[in-house]
Amino acid sequence: MLDEDLLSINQVTTRDQWSLKQAVEGYSRQGIHGTAVWRDKMMEFGSPKNTRQLLKENGISVSGFCIGGLLTSFDEATFQKDLDENRRIMEEAAIIESQALIFIAGGLPKGSKDIASARTRVLEGLSILLPEAKKAGVTIAIEPLHPMLAANRSVLTTMKEANDWCDQLGAGPELGIAVDVYHVWWDPMLESEIKRAGSRIAAFHVNDWLDDTKDLRLDRGMMGDGVIDIPKIRKWVESAGFNGYREVEILSQNNWWKKPPEEVVKVVKERYQKFV
Ligand code: ZN
Repeated sequence: MLDEDLLSINQVTTRDQWSLKQAVEGYSRQGIHGTAVWRDKMMEFGSPKNTRQLLKENGISVSGFCIGGLLTSFDEATFQKDLDENRRIMEEAAIIESQALIFIAGGLPKGSKDIASARTRVLEGLSILLPEAKKAGVTIAIEPLHPMLAANRSVLTTMKEANDWCDQLGAGPELGIAVDVYHVWWDPMLESEIKRAGSRIAAFHVNDWLDDTKDLRLDRGMMGDGVIDIPKIRKWVESAGFNGYREVEILSQNNWWKKPPEEVVKVVKERYQKFV
């Protein structure tokens, strides 16, 4: 397989410019074979079945479905509601044949300072969902996020913790890890923890960390514009056994989301060749 054939573009990269249909057709026009689908964009477009049809017609595989998780609520009724929502998301991920369901743990419940219990809660949620994921043929990929996002987005913040969770849950291929260079590049344990993850790696996300970032979530850089040694991390991930899509995922409200989408895709392809 050619290197370019493993390039996937997460549709969030052109979120403000293109609908799901426009993105799938736009990526396909420029020879891209993979994308990650966001649920809100899919709902806007139509049903999961129609989405699968659209993807097939355009020769696009799904490297990820975004997002499941957000399972930290201490309130029992809310927790059950959130579990049900995740069940629907798993069904949809199966229908669109996504290679991974991207799972974001969730932040601290409002008013809580108990991060240890929030982590325990997510593990409880995962232990309930995993047998159902197995039945549905879905891989839940837990994605550790940068620790600056622990309060409001993800109490899971390192590769080590992701590996520990996998050990604790003892699941099979229905549980994996999403490695996003944006979130883990700084970690001194990264190389050894990627090695430890091995076949658990179910998704690999690339982008860059701008040294003067303006927004922790929505100011990601294009590969080559920041400080991450992406080829080094890619080598570790591939040495661990992962050979799936390298998915470009750029949330950039003041830069890339303002540019013409055709140009964004063109730049992604150039930078992928040079900096991934
Ligand atoms: Zn990611």
